[in-house]
Amino acid sequence: MTYQAAIARYLKRNGHTSFPLKAVLFDMDGVLFNSMPYHAEAWHKAMQRHGLDLSREEAYLHEGRTGSDTIGIVYQRQYGKQPTAEEIKTIYADKCAEFTVYPEPEPVEGVNELLQMIKNDGLIRMVVTGSGQPALINRLTHSFPGIFQRELMITAFDVQQGKPNPEPYLKALRKAGLQPNEAIVVENAPMGVQAGASAGIFTVAVNTGPINGQLLTAAGADLLFESMQVFANEWDKIYKEARRAM
Ligand code: MG
Repeated sequence: MTYQAAIARYLKRNGHTSFPLKAVLFDMDGVLFNSMPYHAEAWHKAMQRHGLDLSREEAYLHEGRTGSDTIGIVYQRQYGKQPTAEEIKTIYADKCAEFTVYPEPEPVEGVNELLQMIKNDGLIRMVVTGSGQPALINRLTHSFPGIFQRELMITAFDVQQGKPNPEPYLKALRKAGLQPNEAIVVENAPMGVQAGASAGIFTVAVNTGPINGQLLTAAGADLLFESMQVFANEWDKIYKEARRAM
């Protein structure tokens, strides 16, 4: 599908007549940082320590959920009941501790280039993550200097309902005073794509992990790219089409 057609289809489906783009809302894990392999490993190991089965592969499919939602789903499946608040806290703390054992994740290849272009285009940059890992969140302003500000972030600490619920993206729009048709969401996980699309925002999926890209399309992605570098290479064309639809 051409970019023009994707934008037209998005506008029609959401009942908009224009696309006055002002901001790009970035998920963090697997979009800004190449952190997902470490998250998947940490989830697998921490769950195992508590007698819970979560494969590394399945961890990718839960990506974007809050830690407590992921724990609740796996626990319920295995024990047929919900974990206590105390159990959730212990398991999540264990997962966070396990995550810090791995090397610091690097920015995803191509993302710095993309962020610079988006900044030069005068668009607002926001981070919208289900993560509650202070170590990574605190690194955002250092790893991407001049790109992100703490005031324009939504994290696990700001929401009641994590992705795939649209709440994180709706809160981000409210925080920046934006309408859904004034932004683009960039996501790498099916749950995140679902959250962006159900918030009524044009959602770009970038498949930076091992999952089948069809899952991202099925979750509601308006565009799908096989890597961040490809998305960065295409940005100017996409932005040009967006401006034509302004
Ligand atoms: Mg992600």
